[in-house]
Amino acid sequence: MTANRTFSIIKPDATRRNLTGAIVKMFEDGGLRVVASKRIHMTRAQAEGFYAVHKERPFYGELVEFMMSEPVVVQVLEGENAVLRNREIMGATNPEDADVGTVRKTHALSIGENSVHGSDSDENAAIEIAFFFTEDEIVG
Ligand code: ADP
Ligand code: MG
Repeated sequence: MTANRTFSIIKPDATRRNLTGAIVKMFEDGGLRVVASKRIHMTRAQAEGFYAVHKERPFYGELVEFMMSEPVVVQVLEGENAVLRNREIMGATNPEDADVGTVRKTHALSIGENSVHGSDSDENAAIEIAFFFTEDEIVG
């Protein structure tokens, strides 16, 4: 099977607690390779645009404020079945429901401050990667 790509964000609750390396290690140990990475402080326009799909949900405002609150690390991860594999490594949205050993069970603070974002489909992965990276920034 050929490798494919997904998009990841290490969220402000994790960068604030100096967990970037610990979380990247979980991705790498889980079979994913970091092929692009940058630390950014999202603007309001970036946070609102990235999460526009959730704008009707009650937590949208809180989510945008959170994602702008501190730096994040945006990454492209590559591996077999990368989208699904990353979702397995991340665990369920609510850390209380996440499996033992996942990023969210290990590190998340709450359903909102849940340490990582990961694409939910190949189609959205492509859209999300293009939102933050140009093709020449991705070095497999
Ligand atoms: P996931 O990140 O697992 O794909 P969603 O796409 O449903 O989950 O939600 C996007 C993000 O919105 C979540 O990761 C979380 O940060 C936030 N979120 C989701 N549900 C809630 C909620 N009930 N209350 C507060 N924040 C939430
Ligand atoms: Mg989602």
